[in-house]
Amino acid sequence: MSFKKSLSGIKVRHCKNTAGATVEILPVPDIVVLPMQQHMGTPCDVKVSVGDEVKVGQIVGDSASFVSAPIHASVSGKVIRIEDYVSPMGIASKAVVIESDKKQERDPNIAPPVINGYNDFLKAVRASGLVGLGGAGFPTHVKLKPRGRVDTLVINAAECEPYITSDHHIAMMELDFLHSGITEIKKYLDISRVIVGVEDNKPDLITALEDYFSYNDSVTVKKLRSKYPQGAEKVLVYETTGRIIAEGMLPADVGVVVMNINSICFMARYLQNGVPLVKRTLTIDGGAIANPKVVTVPLGTPYKDLFDFCGGFKSEPRKIIMGGPMMGITVYDFNSPVLKNNNAVLVFDQAQIDGFEESACIRCGRCVRACPFNLMPAALEKARIAEDLDELRNLKVNLCMECGCCSYVCPAKRNLVTSNKMAKKLLREKGGLK
Ligand code: SF4
Ligand code: SF4
Repeated sequence: MSFKKSLSGIKVRHCKNTAGATVEILPVPDIVVLPMQQHMGTPCDVKVSVGDEVKVGQIVGDSASFVSAPIHASVSGKVIRIEDYVSPMGIASKAVVIESDKKQERDPNIAPPVINGYNDFLKAVRASGLVGLGGAGFPTHVKLKPRGRVDTLVINAAECEPYITSDHHIAMMELDFLHSGITEIKKYLDISRVIVGVEDNKPDLITALEDYFSYNDSVTVKKLRSKYPQGAEKVLVYETTGRIIAEGMLPADVGVVVMNINSICFMARYLQNGVPLVKRTLTIDGGAIANPKVVTVPLGTPYKDLFDFCGGFKSEPRKIIMGGPMMGITVYDFNSPVLKNNNAVLVFDQAQIDGFEESACIRCGRCVRACPFNLMPAALEKARIAEDLDELRNLKVNLCMECGCCSYVCPAKRNLVTSNKMAKKLLREKGGLK
């Protein structure tokens, strides 16, 4: 993989309509739906039965696998169903459905974890149920056990997707937890250097971070240009440290561990109070939403409750997106539940989805210029249509991070990112994707 001098990506309209909002608390929903796969790795087994009474923070799903993360009840009440569930990403698992008693009584066993060393620290982070809150959903305790020595913690506060403001809000409210989390990670991973990467469209956060850490020589705030996809892991590591994560490598291979800012704040809170991951702060926005908001909700809350809380729709909802418009997943069900890695729900109206009909490629090369990894999306699409597996491998489709920059700039509206996803699937099925 060759990198451009600056992996600056593309300019997108950021539409951070809720940047100045106050975070609101959703009333406790009537039911929550908790899928057993809300992370990358092994799905959890259901640990409760229909009819069981549960308290907030009680484990309802877990796995013996290290690469997994337990699922906890987000409301107190009764388990009324255990049902089949298919996520917007197409992943099937069981889901525990809890009818809330609205009391929000906590599991009496909740207590701060006792930590006497690195292994206890990893166990505690796993027990918290934490997965990457930036959207990836990778179990955090696995990330905190890097292969090889790391010397740098890069904190992802870029939040480069349009509309999404939840990390920004959390970071502004929880600087003490951020500091505490950084201290723990530095201690247990023996890290000497911390870099917080923030896009320059969040000047208040940059100022707050610079003021807060002004006395701390080991923490640097790196102001990043507001260009998409600054928050993509490989891009962020390059822009903050100058280190290149080459093909087949992980951040740890260049001495870096990358964590989302919200994940660090949550981890620090858990280490202090022992309350696992049972709620999520997310941005609700898009042209169809009457009153865009940033809302803290129990995990598993059905989307329709979020829309009602935002005053419903001011225009016909035409497309629901879990996440941001660049990398988010289209959702077709108003009852879809809020998942751990769900940082936004956007609802677009007709005006926002008009004008996306595909036409023939005019060979303008814009998609190539936009790709942070110098891939050739138009050529990839041609190879994918021809099912030319060798050419797909030669053109390195495996390096596509599905950021959507190529589709965004394409004047012919070619759906290049979807084509790349299909190409990778084709290679996985027929040719062995590395
Ligand atoms: S940007 Fe679109 S039209 Fe231009 S070369 Fe790429 S696929 Fe073709
Ligand atoms: S989606 Fe893939 S091919 Fe397109 S710009 Fe992003 S990395 Fe490049």
